[in-house]
Amino acid sequence: MARNAGGRPEVGFDASWYFATQNHAVERAVLDRDIECDVCIVGGGYTGLSAALTLAESGLSVVLLEKYRIGSGASGRNGGVLGMGQRKDQDDLEKMLGDQWAGKLWEMSLDANNLVRQRIKDYAIDCDLADGELTIAHRARYESDLWDYAAHLNARYGYQDCHPLTRTEVSDRIGSEAYYGGYLDMRAGHLHPLNLAQGLAQAAESNGAALFETTEVKSIDALGAGRARLKTAGGTVRSNKVVLACNGYLNGLLREPDAFQMPINNFMVATEPLSESLARDTIRNNEAVVDTRFVVNYFHLSRDNRLIFGGGENYTRYFPKDIRKVVRKRLIEIYPQLQNVEIPYAWGGTLSVTMNRMPKFGRLGEHLYYGQGYSGHGVAMANMGGHLIAEAIKGQAAGFDLLANLKHQRFPGGRWLRWPGLVAGMLFYAMLDRM
Ligand SMILES: Cc1cc2nc3c(=O)[nH]c(=O)nc-3n(C[C@H](O)[C@H](O)[C@H](O)COP(=O)(O)OP(=O)(O)OC[C@H]3O[C@@H](n4cnc5c(N)ncnc54)[C@H](O)[C@@H]3O)c2cc1C
Repeated sequence: MARNAGGRPEVGFDASWYFATQNHAVERAVLDRDIECDVCIVGGGYTGLSAALTLAESGLSVVLLEKYRIGSGASGRNGGVLGMGQRKDQDDLEKMLGDQWAGKLWEMSLDANNLVRQRIKDYAIDCDLADGELTIAHRARYESDLWDYAAHLNARYGYQDCHPLTRTEVSDRIGSEAYYGGYLDMRAGHLHPLNLAQGLAQAAESNGAALFETTEVKSIDALGAGRARLKTAGGTVRSNKVVLACNGYLNGLLREPDAFQMPINNFMVATEPLSESLARDTIRNNEAVVDTRFVVNYFHLSRDNRLIFGGGENYTRYFPKDIRKVVRKRLIEIYPQLQNVEIPYAWGGTLSVTMNRMPKFGRLGEHLYYGQGYSGHGVAMANMGGHLIAEAIKGQAAGFDLLANLKHQRFPGGRWLRWPGLVAGMLFYAMLDRM
């Protein structure tokens, strides 16, 4: 297999099981003229699509420009885990930001979960939504932390959907002895990420938004006093507002948001369909599973009983030569009984992490809003992020400001391997996973 470059939506998008089972393989028009609109959105992942939907539902004229295909970034390639909370745990947020701010971010995550579920319902998006996520300890020393965390969510936030599980209960539910105890969160879940993205795109279009594909924005002039101007190879969009929603695929388009993120490649596989009995022995109740590793393993069953398994990452511009081999090794450590199962699909995607692992939102000048850096926790939060940007454009900025006011540090040096110290740090923590 050729070495694939990360951060390029056109590379490897068609390698996933999600691509093979997408509901709407429609190709949209390329922008080939000059147009005007209220809001121009750059990027057709959850952030951009969610912003487009909220804005179009309010009657604003919306144009969305996607460099390749809808969902060809992280949104159509991810683990599909609809997680609860923020990427950083609530107890960390309480220490970092105080109880009040942390509490609002918890509320935001509940709203994010509701938003995704409500849209799936309202627009009849067929994306295999299933309830339940197990968070489980890969070392005995993390087990009590997980139990304490479930108790904390209950005591501090009255959250009753999180239930502690013993080691025996975990192994009974996931058919593996590789883990210790953990907890089950019944409000979290999993879904088919590309079909969610495509469903959101159709929903936005049904409300009047114009979506263009294979249309890369080459430059954005949004800082002056007049209307913004976005240039593509075939045309120009003039708009009152701009939403920049490129996340790990930004590739330096605008310097400020780029400086706050580090693109990371993460890898996944899908097995052949397991027999019904093997599937039930693998994940008895069809929940999503995530573990406590720094380089997290995450897995669930597909609707046709494949094990969809994610794990392994790198920090360079290239995907590994053999993604299947990298991820299979991790899969077999957990499920040696799947040693002989075929793995027909293997793919990679690029996500965006920030220094503090919280999303980075901001405004540039009068016209431009951006949201990125969900740090591997964007299925719910990128949907929420796009919605909050749209609400801010409509004049309700409280939720947006809650994120935009978070303090972030720039990554030193620039993109890709220009911060060797940081990469060394990531590799160090990845090594601790094995100790
Ligand atoms: C392998 C993997 C597994 C993951 N698993 C999970 C998970 O299980 N749960 C979870 O919560 N999160 C997960 N994530 C993270 C989650 O997928 C992301 O946080 C989320 O999809 C980000 O959405 P987005 O719209 O901001 O970015 P993206 O979906 O990456 O979209 C950005 C879009 O911008 C477009 N673009 C870039 N530049 C331009 C340009 N110049 N002009 C036009 N368009 C442009 C790109 O083509 C791309 O489509 C995972 C990510 C990966 C890669």
